[in-house]
Amino acid sequence: MTKTDQPIINYDRCDLCGKCVAACPVNALHMTADGPVFNQPLTCTYCTICEDICPQGAIRAPLTVRWAS
Ligand code: SF4
Ligand code: SF4
Repeated sequence: MTKTDQPIINYDRCDLCGKCVAACPVNALHMTADGPVFNQPLTCTYCTICEDICPQGAIRAPLTVRWAS
């Protein structure tokens, strides 16, 4: 997994509501004064709950499909 695979936050749209942080089931997000950050990026399961709950459409959890070798 690379850094670019992590959910993406658009800080221009984020209003710091904290809903994504509260909803993440694996505590992969942490709220800061500037907005949420991925403090536990390797625990992210790409469940997309944060994306679904964000009222501003400010966070996306892009899925990457890879074929098993
Ligand atoms: S996709 Fe799921 S596990 Fe990953 S940061 Fe969002 S809510 Fe947490
Ligand atoms: S739910 Fe959306 S608007 Fe609220 S803190 Fe998270 S990214 Fe920002």
